Amino acid sequence: MLESGGAHQICTVNPEFINEAARNPCFAEVLAQADLCTPDGIGVLLAARYLGTPLRGRVTGVRLTHRLAQLAAERGYRLFLLGAAPGVAEEAAAVLRATYAGLTIVGCVAGSPAPRHEPFLQQVIRSARPDILLVAYGHPKQDLWVARNQPILQVPVAVGVGGVFDYLAGRVPFAPAWIRQIGLEWLYRLVSQPRRWRRIVDAVPYFCWRVVSTAY
Ligand code: UDP
Repeated sequence: MLESGGAHQICTVNPEFINEAARNPCFAEVLAQADLCTPDGIGVLLAARYLGTPLRGRVTGVRLTHRLAQLAAERGYRLFLLGAAPGVAEEAAAVLRATYAGLTIVGCVAGSPAPRHEPFLQQVIRSARPDILLVAYGHPKQDLWVARNQPILQVPVAVGVGGVFDYLAGRVPFAPAWIRQIGLEWLYRLVSQPRRWRRIVDAVPYFCWRVVSTAY
């Protein structure tokens, strides 16, 4: 993508994205137009297998961010971190810099996904000239934000990364490796962040119903 020129968008899709896309045609359009959608969630893998179009494996937002940071350090690409609560992007950047020697992070801004802040953020990002922009406003805001702003920003790669900065900064605990391996991170997250229960309880039955009804 970086070598081929142009501005690209990556979305890290979990079942909640698919539910939202069914209700929100603008978001569905963004996912359909994205240059790459990665399967971030065991539900997406199970659904793809059930529908006869199996995927190779999961790519979590955290893993994708680490791989992009590694690539950026190796090739001299410039990274910009946008979003999360004030100070969190800076903490996440410190972790990435400590992990990948020589990594160039050209900006850390919490900002806001509200459209009225876009002119200011466009100015800040354009003057930093990043090659990779990570946007952490949660879905669908972050992906809609990228789709609206990429025509102006023209960053080679822009990725919606959800809660990745919170994880990197240690604000949200990582599930133990064995839980991640069996794809039950969402359950761990539910127990460790009980305020999310409503989101999950809403998402699971609706997603299952949508997958089954798509098959028939
Ligand atoms: N966030 C933000 N501004 C907002 C809404 C959300 O910076 O107006 C950040 C929030 O602090 C968190 C991330 O966006 O770091 C959302 O994380 P979540 O795991 O909820 O993402 P999702 O699962 O929706 O992709």
